[in-house]
Amino acid sequence: MATAVVTTTTAARAATTTEPGASRGGVDGDPAAAASYDQGVALERRTILVVEDEQTIRDPLAAALSREGFGVEIAATAEEALELAARMDPDLILLDLMLPDGSGYDVCREVRRTAETPVIMLTARGEETDRIVGLELGADDYVVKPFSAREVIARVRAVLRRSEPRAASGREGGPLEVGPLRVDPERRSAELDGEPIELSRKEFELLERLMRDAGTVITREQLIEDVWDMNWFGSTKTLDVHVSSLRKKLGENPDTPRFLHTVRGVGFRFSAPGELDT
Ligand code: CA
Repeated sequence: MATAVVTTTTAARAATTTEPGASRGGVDGDPAAAASYDQGVALERRTILVVEDEQTIRDPLAAALSREGFGVEIAATAEEALELAARMDPDLILLDLMLPDGSGYDVCREVRRTAETPVIMLTARGEETDRIVGLELGADDYVVKPFSAREVIARVRAVLRRSEPRAASGREGGPLEVGPLRVDPERRSAELDGEPIELSRKEFELLERLMRDAGTVITREQLIEDVWDMNWFGSTKTLDVHVSSLRKKLGENPDTPRFLHTVRGVGFRFSAPGELDT
């Protein structure tokens, strides 16, 4: 067997952008490795490539993204965009449609040949057909000029969030198991005692998140941030509703839970794989 020496970051990037199966040899069947791996990736700063030739649009947008904690790279032409996209492997591309040396479509198409990088198109008002074509090309969303930086940042967050499970399944690969409960992130399936459990999308994501760090306490804030939104200003009742429905589906008695333990005033803890045997 060939010895591959790569850093975690390099491996994560390779796995998310080029080859979904690339991580399979690595973290399969080792929940501890998968958990620390996941945390490392989550802490990594997200980098946005802004492709826009109009400085009056580009600069305030780049400044606003930086203020929000994103890493920002700038390209003013299609050529620069392709060069930077290949070299820096951004987490998301904000892509103007009308560039001096070509069309944003071509950039989008070219990027998509080799990577699944999320793309948000920046279009001018009245480019109705253009928008459709943009989405057909595989752009994840679009915003119409003139836009506010706040609006674009909200879209960026939403698209990054949506693309997360896709990236995560490529990264993690393997199923998670705690006692008779088995969750397969890649197939989005969950089984208890060999019987499939029907879970809503958010219930599934919550369960997967809890099982990734099985055995350790995860705060309410962290769960809300990871499963719902990086900046959730709403009520945390949503979390309780989902925990409650998840418990029902897992056949839990909240007073004597097998899997999902409430840690008062802090958050929740999922039983570690070895915990159920004793
Ligand atoms: Ca332009």
